This record gives sequence, structure tokens and C-alpha cells, in this order.
Amino acid sequence: MSLSDLTALELGAKIKAGEVSVPEATRAALDAIEAKNAENNAFITVLNNRAMAEAEEIQKKISAGELTSPLAGVPLAIKDNICTKGVKTTCASKILGDFQPPYNATLTEKIHAIGGVVLGKLNMDEFAMGSTSETSYYGATRNPWDLSRVPGGSSGGAAAAVAARECWYAIGSDTGGSIRQPASYCGVTGIKPTYGTVSRYGLIAYASSLDQIGPLARTAEDCAAILDAIQGKDPRDGTSLDVPVGGLLSGLSGDLTGMKIGIPVDCFGDGLDGEVSQKVLAAAEVLKERGAEVEEFRLPIMEYVVPAYYIIAAAEASSNLSRFDGVKYGWRAEGYSDLTELYNKTRTEGFGTEVKRRILLGTFVLSSGYYDAYYRKALQVKAVIKEAFDRAFEKYDLLLMPVAPTTAPKLGESLSDPLKMYLSDIYTVSVNLAGLPGVSIPCGLDSKGLPVGAQLIGPALGEGKVLNAAHAYQQETDFHKLRPTQKGGAE
Ligand code: GLN
Repeated sequence: MSLSDLTALELGAKIKAGEVSVPEATRAALDAIEAKNAENNAFITVLNNRAMAEAEEIQKKISAGELTSPLAGVPLAIKDNICTKGVKTTCASKILGDFQPPYNATLTEKIHAIGGVVLGKLNMDEFAMGSTSETSYYGATRNPWDLSRVPGGSSGGAAAAVAARECWYAIGSDTGGSIRQPASYCGVTGIKPTYGTVSRYGLIAYASSLDQIGPLARTAEDCAAILDAIQGKDPRDGTSLDVPVGGLLSGLSGDLTGMKIGIPVDCFGDGLDGEVSQKVLAAAEVLKERGAEVEEFRLPIMEYVVPAYYIIAAAEASSNLSRFDGVKYGWRAEGYSDLTELYNKTRTEGFGTEVKRRILLGTFVLSSGYYDAYYRKALQVKAVIKEAFDRAFEKYDLLLMPVAPTTAPKLGESLSDPLKMYLSDIYTVSVNLAGLPGVSIPCGLDSKGLPVGAQLIGPALGEGKVLNAAHAYQQETDFHKLRPTQKGGAE
């Protein structure tokens, strides 16, 4: 078995046992990136020398017994909206093209603390706005399963890099599905944790009340180990929660006896691809075999979730992105005669079309006269959505639904029709509006040979349950082990 076939935990165990060295694993990953990045464009920045130097350092610490995490020495990559001190953090935007943060995100520090080797920074939709990873200023990322298709977004670089075996795990962010949907399109496992469990300090904000950092990896076990390392209260993020940290990995029993899983029938209606529907429902049968009780129920909120999400997300984005003005950091236009012209020119040149569309929409829904009609209404809808989930979790431990209505579309298909692209987020955005944990797990391939994902959603702080069900499913199935061949299609 080649190194790249190992899960992150398997590689960590081999490093610990001295069977594989950290520089050896890092070299293998950098070689894979060298071979594959030209075709899939998953990375914006590759840290060749720096990663090798880090690997040597970490190996010494592991040999000296100073690093004991099960992931110590395992190479990974980080989405380019998470600050890495002294390493370009672009948010896939021209406006931040040369930005080298003077500080690390809390996430980056936590990764350093466990001895993670950072291979580079991952491509994404500009400012995490999009569902395809095509809006990057640095060019679209391509899906390793079929290079004519998108990897999903906005953490498309993260999902593609894990699927193409360029790293053992990746860190992404999810505001309305950006971890789960690319995980689904690329056949990897990705979890958006409960809002507040992973610090957002140093995550460049898109919509602060919805943004969450989380892992993409091969297995639910890997995701549990990563979350064990990156969760926790952070005094630098006022919304971070003071909850017990750790214990997710050790809590994975795979036993689902007595677990009640609800399937919202409202998520299986018009607009859902037949093959996706069939694979997700087949996953329910596997969970039943493992001891879960599965039942259908009504979750009558689906027509409201996309409009509410896009109003709230755009409103927060328009406010968050006002800091990019050419004065403090990043791109500055030339040839201006006063401050207003500097702002205008810098933002006109620095932001891409999709980001501008969101800023315009957000400014509109927050403007006087429209605030009550749109923004306040959307917040009321958000409360209704939260209540609907609360009611569901009085009856069920977990919910099972699709991640996305289809498998990965062709490049270019979605950007021509933004509304259609927004509607494709229907199964993921409500989870962010309600602040809940949701995992995407590979549950088969469609007739085109493209991965399908199933989504398990839990109550707030129900990561343990969500990951345990995902783990039980992965003990029964091999879909998470399939890998794209160079030509596309599964091996
Ligand atoms: N596709 C959604 C959007 O564009 C979600 C993006 C995300 O989760 N960052 O807003």
C-alpha cells in the first residue's frame, strides 16, 4: 500500500512507530502536488522548502517524545481564507493578492501545536462566495474525478487536494455548505461543526454569524481526530463556546443501537436527481443494519432556506468586506485624486463579479426602507428554521438528507445562472442558519462515475453522534476508499 492510500490516522501511527519519517511523508505529498496541481489547481500557494524544514523540526520533536497527537507529523493543507503568519493568504481575491498576515489564525496555531506539516494554501471561491470554486482570481479548481467538472465550493481546493491524494487532510470553512458540498462532489468526508466550537479568529470573515472552520479528510475517524485538535474556547473569538474538548475520536464506537434517524421527506422532492436520491436512501438502509431506527418526517422549511440564507449572508458580507478599501492592506489602485476615488477604483479592480454581486445585494437589503422587508424578515425566518430543527431533534438523534441536488456539474455551467447556483445550496444552508453540525460522507458513484454524498445532521454539540453514525456507515461500506484515477472514474 502506498503512503497516499493511508488515512491521516494510519499515517500518524506509522510516523509514531518510526516506520515512516515526517520528511518522507512530506516529500511524497509535495511530489504529488507537483504532479497534480497543474491539472486540478487545488493549491494557490505550495510551501515546498518551508514544509520540508517544518517536517525536519517536527520529526525531531516526535523522536524526542514532545509531540503525542495521533496526527503529529501528518502533512495537511489549509484553505486560503485562514491566516498563516508570513505566508500569503489571498482569499482567492486580487484585493488580498499580496497579503502576508502578521499573525496566525487560532486554527493555524492549533495545527502547529499538534505537529501538523502545512504543505500550502488551498484554492477556493473568492471570499468563500460560491458553490463551484470557479470564482477564484487564481483560476478554477477542477474535480479530480473528472477534470471537466467543478470540485464544488467554496472549499473546492480542500476537497480536490484530499481526493487527489495531495495531502492527508485539509482545513476548510463552511458558511452555507462550503465544506460539505465539495466533500460530496469529490468523494471525501467533511464536517461543519456546531457554530462556536472552532475559533474563527484569523478566518477572513464572509458572514460571521454563519462561518465555521472544519476538516475534510478520508474518514469520519480522521475528522474526529482533527476536531479533537482544533476545537475549543478561544478568548480571541467572542462567539467561541466553552465546551469540553477532545474525546470525539475515542468516543467512536460504531454502535448505533437505539439511535433514531429522521429522513425529512421534504428534501426528496422535485429538483433532486434520482440517482442521488436513491444512494442517500440506500445509506439509510445501511444505518438500519447497524441498529438505527429510521423514519420519515416532515421538515416544512425547505422553500425558505435559500432566500433567508442569501439575504443574511450577503448583508453580513457587505459589512465585513467594507474593510477592503485599499488603505490598510492588500491591493491599492493607482491614479486616484481623492479618497472616494481610491475606494472606488480599488474595489472595482480588486473584487470579482460574484463578490460585487453579494456586496450590492447585502447593501440593498440593509438599506433604509428595505431593512424591515428583507433583512429583518430573513432573521425571523432563521428563527423559524431553528425551531423546526429543535422540534425534529426532540424526536430524532440525527437527520439524514442529501448534500446537494446533483453530482458535480461541468465547469462553466453554474456561473452563467447564479440563481440556479444559489438554489443548489438548498440542503446545506439551513444547517448554518441553525448553527448545527453536519457531515458529508461518500455514499456511492452515479452512472457517470461521480461521487454522491449523504449528509447527517445533529443537534447543537452533537458532533459525537454525527461522527459515530458516519463511522458506523464507513465500517460497513467502502465508498470512502474509492479514489479517482488519472483519467477520471473510480479505481
Ligand atoms: N455557496 C454558498 C455561498 O456562496 C456557501 C458558501 C460557503 O459556505 N462559504 O454563500
